Amino acid sequence: MKILSRTVGPFQANCYLVIDDATGSAVLIDPGADGAELVEMVRASGATLEEIWLTHGHIDHIGGVAEVRRHYPVPVRLHPLDRPFFDTLSARMAEVYGLPFDQPDPPDDELAEGEVLACGNLRFTVMHVPRHAPGLVSFNGEDVALCGDLLFAGSIGRTDLPLSDPQAMHESLARIATLAEETTVYPGHGGITTIGEELKSNPFLSGRARVVSR
Ligand SMILES: [Zn+2]
Ligand SMILES: [Zn+2]
Repeated sequence: MKILSRTVGPFQANCYLVIDDATGSAVLIDPGADGAELVEMVRASGATLEEIWLTHGHIDHIGGVAEVRRHYPVPVRLHPLDRPFFDTLSARMAEVYGLPFDQPDPPDDELAEGEVLACGNLRFTVMHVPRHAPGLVSFNGEDVALCGDLLFAGSIGRTDLPLSDPQAMHESLARIATLAEETTVYPGHGGITTIGEELKSNPFLSGRARVVSR
């Protein structure tokens, strides 16, 4: 397995291209902006893009979907609870920030807790981990977790956004903390880390700090 990444857009979100070396199949996770650059990453990899998987529907994770799909018309998967962001709220947020926004077509498939997704011979299990966003999911498998804005190196996703909830976020962090310590975490922003490293150094994961309302 190979995981390529690009950090894109004004919110500096991470987009990941997961490639199964054995079959050449690939999935693109969170094409958040700069779609042309992401198309070039896929092209240069030589892999065959099969699907686009979204950790959640926030503007900084979906802004490149439309452009990528103009070049690669592959299915897009999103948890249904994040459709409000995907369908309307992200476009409205773009207006508020004065940013251009390329509204993508509706997702083709829904993601569900416990569902097993394939990328070639690779397997990832969907873990529903609200509530940075209500439909936030982590793609777990092959000793990695691609967890969007749940967990960052040394920090966690915001819980002061519309439809966020600190208590549910706390429960989701407790769930991701049950993954094997050697699991490599590919977060939605910032550098990669491991569950073990975050259990040691991240007060929100070790239970030393609690998520509270701001
Ligand atoms: Zn987010
Ligand atoms: Zn984000």
